[in-house]
Amino acid sequence: MLHTGSQHLREKRVVVAADKTFSEYQTIADGALPRFRDAPLLHFINGVPTPSASGDTFENHSPVDGELLGSVASGDAVDIDVAATAAADAFGDWSSRSGKERKRILLNVADAIEQRADDIAAVECIDTGQTIRYMSAAAIRGAENFRFFANHAPDANNGRSMPDEHHINFSSRSALGPVGVITPWNTPFMLSTWKIAPALAAGCTVVHKPAEWSPYSAAMLAEIALEAGLPAGVLNTVHGFGETAGKSLTEHHAIKAIAFVGESATGSMIQAQGAPTLKRVHFELGGKNPVIVFEDADLDRALDAVMFMIYSLNGERCTSSSRVLLQESIHDEFVAKLGARVETLKVGHPLDPATEIGPLIHPRHCEKVRSYEAIARDAGATVLVGGQGLGGGAPDEGSDSASYYVNPMLFTGATNDMRIAQEEIFGPVLTALPFADEAEAIRIANDIEYGLAGYLWTGDTGRAHRVARDLDAGMVWVNSQNVRHLPTPFGGTKASGIGRDGGPEYSFEFYMETKNISVAYDTHSITKLGVS
Ligand code: NAD
Repeated sequence: MLHTGSQHLREKRVVVAADKTFSEYQTIADGALPRFRDAPLLHFINGVPTPSASGDTFENHSPVDGELLGSVASGDAVDIDVAATAAADAFGDWSSRSGKERKRILLNVADAIEQRADDIAAVECIDTGQTIRYMSAAAIRGAENFRFFANHAPDANNGRSMPDEHHINFSSRSALGPVGVITPWNTPFMLSTWKIAPALAAGCTVVHKPAEWSPYSAAMLAEIALEAGLPAGVLNTVHGFGETAGKSLTEHHAIKAIAFVGESATGSMIQAQGAPTLKRVHFELGGKNPVIVFEDADLDRALDAVMFMIYSLNGERCTSSSRVLLQESIHDEFVAKLGARVETLKVGHPLDPATEIGPLIHPRHCEKVRSYEAIARDAGATVLVGGQGLGGGAPDEGSDSASYYVNPMLFTGATNDMRIAQEEIFGPVLTALPFADEAEAIRIANDIEYGLAGYLWTGDTGRAHRVARDLDAGMVWVNSQNVRHLPTPFGGTKASGIGRDGGPEYSFEFYMETKNISVAYDTHSITKLGVS
């Protein structure tokens, strides 16, 4: 039997949780937000807050209640050009600094992020609707990303030695150049640091285009980094929409690569936009990840993990397990237990530590998530939980702010060809599917366009290895929810992405060029030409 966890390990596991009260977090947010209301949020180029050349701005509303939080500079090709030029100008100095020096500065950035962690978390909650119980750790994780890659900066240029009989071959790496980072709105701070930190550690300079629905924490990161000693121009932020600022970034000739996190369809557009300038691309895209629960699993732990991996972070998580595949013998009981837990989830204000599901980012997204209730019914599935009415701390149905909130949903009686089993909903919505045996579980799990993550729960060691091997996914967790370990490769197969992040091997490979130098021992023969 495979051990699925011991009490000892359970007790030792450190859980970072919100450690302040609702009103304390509100006070922190009240202190951090007025600057966004009092003046438009500007781009941050060459270390200087910079308005759009056009003077254009867009409004940013909070998903908590639809309140206008402030206006934001809306960038276009001109602003991107200024930022890309700043990044190109800063590249020579930054990339030629020693790895030790980059490490020192990036560790200072990590410390500075930690000092501002509560501010970042509170702002992120109000800007995105994500709940403080997770966001309180997200800013800390952002600092960890900086610390992790900072510590690898001194070795970034290292290559390999690959001698043959007549030559010594050795490789070395050098920073690629100015790169573009384009990020989504679901956990913006943590995700942007996951891209920006390795780029900077490798010696690249960056132009960051954050999602238009969640611009604030990106602005804070650029300011914090400058204050912590990152030279001006090394990290530049241009706000704006995907089809203007984002598109221009992917097309700019000075930008050598695009690290993109977002929808699969956007990734496809970016690849086309970047083709004329031969952009190197790294894509972390959508997912519809299966969690397979076999009858021989530790079902209590599996239940906890299934709940966590779809109903945490508002279900707005690329690695969420949005399809639960249940062996027939345990299906009914497992679904009943799931349903009872989903019923009790607390929907409410994101700064309330008791809230488990906050408002979704935008009424358009919320509308999309809600629409799957009718899609499920029309397809003949059962809406076991959710949909109608908002409970707990959520606003009254019919009020303006209610258009941001959704009750978590659980669909049963589904088949894998239904839209609820195939499409990324990106909300707190889970589809349960029964399976008879291992072969059918693998077939259902792989019968999907995505291949980001897979989770499986079993007490059988051989089965764990067989299923892990056969799942078509970039990452598989056995008897575990998604627990990130920074050195491991992160990324997806099929429509879920191109390339891997993680550790110096994967992340630096993307942000650096590799050169091989071959030096002869003067022992090899050279074919003579022109000698009769
Ligand atoms: P999105 O693709 O709509 O937008 C992401 C970013 O791309 C935004 O900054 C947007 O402005 C920009 N963009 C849009 N069109 C563009 C274009 N033509 N050129 C350049 N940039 C453009 O994604 P979203 O709705 O913000 O985020 C949700 C998606 O992100 C989901 O599909 C989710 O699975 C995915 N995601 C993936 C991962 C992962 O690691 N695989 C992590 C988080 C989120």
